[in-house]
Formats: sequence, C-alpha cells, structure tokens
Amino acid sequence: MKHKKIAIIGAGMAGATLANQLINGGYQVTIFEKSRGTGGRQSSCRIGTDSADLGAPWYAPKTKQFRQWLMERPEVALWQAKHRNFCDTEVDRKCVFLSTPRQSSLTQNLIKGAMLCTEANILRIQSDDHGVRLDKELGEIKSLFDAVIVTTPAAQAIRLLSVCPQFSNLASTTKSSPSWVSVISIKGKNNIEPDILSGNHPILHRAIRDSKKPGRNSWSRKEIWVLEANSEWSQRHRDSAPNNIGKALIKAFAAVVDQPIEISCIRTHRWLYARHQSATSADYLWDPISKIGVCADWLNNPGNEGAWLSANALANHLLCHSTNSDCLPLNHAVVS
Ligand SMILES: Cc1cc2nc3c(=O)[nH]c(=O)nc-3n(C[C@H](O)[C@H](O)[C@H](O)COP(=O)(O)OP(=O)(O)OC[C@H]3O[C@@H](n4cnc5c(N)ncnc54)[C@H](O)[C@@H]3O)c2cc1C
Repeated sequence: MKHKKIAIIGAGMAGATLANQLINGGYQVTIFEKSRGTGGRQSSCRIGTDSADLGAPWYAPKTKQFRQWLMERPEVALWQAKHRNFCDTEVDRKCVFLSTPRQSSLTQNLIKGAMLCTEANILRIQSDDHGVRLDKELGEIKSLFDAVIVTTPAAQAIRLLSVCPQFSNLASTTKSSPSWVSVISIKGKNNIEPDILSGNHPILHRAIRDSKKPGRNSWSRKEIWVLEANSEWSQRHRDSAPNNIGKALIKAFAAVVDQPIEISCIRTHRWLYARHQSATSADYLWDPISKIGVCADWLNNPGNEGAWLSANALANHLLCHSTNSDCLPLNHAVVS
C-alpha cells in the first residue's frame, strides 16, 4: 500500500490517538502542534524542579473499550485515592487511571513514528485537486498532504475549517467553558489527609495532591497540589490577573482544609476552552471532497474519553476506506 501523507493539527488526546492508529495502518503522519509539547488539555507543566499535571488530571472511563484500552497501556496506572468532599465528609476512594510519570506521557508515547512539528501554529488550510496545504504563522508549509485532520478545541477550529463551512458552523455553535488552575508547591509539613477534595463549592471544583499520584518522581520531595476553579467562577473571573486568581484559590483551599497554606512556588493557568458541550451526534467529521476531517471532544462525546472515541471512529473510517485503494474515498459520508 502506498503511504498516505496525513497532517494532524493538534497533539492532544484526539490527535495522538488518531496518529497512533494511522501509523499502525501504514500512513505517514505529520503532527502540527502550536505549543512546545504534546498533551493539549492533558499537558503537564514544570513547577520548580518538579512537574505536575496542569490539565485533565486523570481518565475515568465510562465505556468498556476505553477502560480496556487504558488497562493495556504500559504507561497507564490505577490510582485509588483518599477522597473527601469540601464539607469534609469521607466519600468512597476514587479509582481513576492516569499516565505515568506524568499525564503528557501517554500522548508522547502514542505519537512515536509520527513527525512532530512543535510551535507550529496553523493559520489556514487550503484544499484543491492536488492535495491539502497548510499555512502556519511564519509562512506556508511546503509539503502537500493527502488529507488534513483538525483536532483543536471548537473555538480554534472555526477559522481553520473555513474551507468546510458546514464544519466551521458546527464548531461555532459549540459551547465551551473556561477553567482556572493553580499548581502550588507547599512549604513545610501539613496534615491534610485526603488526596482529592471535590464537591459543591463557590470557587473550587477540586483540589488534587498531584505529588501523591503513582509514578511521580518528586526530586524535591515537595508536596504539590493542583487547585481547579469551577466553571462558573472561572467564567466570572475570565479576565482577572493570574496573580489574583492564585491568591483566591489558595485562600479557598486553606479554608477548606482548615490550616494555613504556605507556598514555595505557584503556577496559574487559564484554560479558555477547558470543556465542551457536544453540539452534534456525529462521532467525527469527514469531507471526502476537500479531504478535511475533524475528531475532537466537541463532537458526540465530551472529555478525554470523547476525544479518544472520536479519534478511533475517524481512524476506522479512514483505514476501512483506504485498504483497497490508494485514494481516500470520494463518495462517502460528509458528516458521519
Ligand atoms: C483543567 C482541566 C480539567 C479537565 N478535567 C477533565 C476530566 O476530569 N475528565 C475528562 O474527561 N476531561 C477533562 N478535561 C477535558 C479534557 O482535557 C479534554 O476533553 C481532552 O484533553 C481533549 O483532547 P483533544 O485532543 O480533543 O483536545 P486538546 O487537548 O485541546 O488538543 C488540541 C491541541 O491542538 C493544539 N492547537 C490548537 N490550535 C492549533 C493550531 N492553530 N495549530 C496547531 N495546534 C493547535 C493545542 O495546542 C492542543 O495541544 C479537563 C480539561 C481541563 C483543561
């Protein structure tokens, strides 16, 4: 089979899963990612000399397929964490899956075999009879691709998908919510018992002791917590200064655990499009004329599982329709 050249925009869960499937199917895959590494909304960050998970902290599979797949991945571990709600009532231990040694490890491993171009902010997709071309911030990318797949959050896909107005319209009707997150390194000893705190709270969505996750190598042995604000509060404080957000999250956390919190390091990040509400029942989008597709968490299913399911569905479509031919299908589903 002739190798097909596919470009994927975005190296998050959807892009990395799709890349993995297409590489295994004999495709030649190039990934363009605007940030410096993989993971997208599942990325990790540096805090002092340690690292912590800045985005989705874990996977809580709802489908059998996703659970099975996670259980078979060598870098994925199960975490049974002590869990309390914000009113200090004990709840069942939380059992979740996560990647080791950090959340971004899964995407890093999935894309092995693909060419990864980081700090490549794609601005435009153009398609004609010869193939699909991409423009990035600093000019045109010389390669011509057989197909291009967009895996960015909906708001960032609107302009990219202007060549497929139907897809672009769908992206523009998708609702997304922001999320402020502060990663803190705590000074000295404390006696916070649970590893996860969550529930109803006017500011916080959850607080997670990141340094207690399995497989984390904390060189400094510091205690690292990730404080995530809830969507409503994040929306109300969307344009506030990170410094003030950090202070508000620490104050809320100190009140919940009922002890002073002294920090040695803090990193505050605003995820503008943290979560999406699905706007369609399509698992993926594929336009056989322009050879442009979409797989993402803003289609049929939300969250990291939604991104994974969408990428698998699109990979199946592309692989099934290309086994007997060197051309990608011309007359199949426009929106699947
Ligand atoms: C704080 C937080 C907590 C969360 N908690 C949970 C949870 O508990 N459970 C759950 O299921 N989900 C959770 N989510 C959502 C989950 O992280 C996402 O649904 C999932 O990671 C989406 O993956 P994706 O590949 O579709 O998109 P992304 O991870 O957003 O990947 C898209 C990639 O495209 C890149 N990109 C964007 N525009 C361009 C461009 N023009 N050119 C090149 N690259 C571009 C981005 O940099 C990004 O890396 C959370 C998200 C956040 C932020």
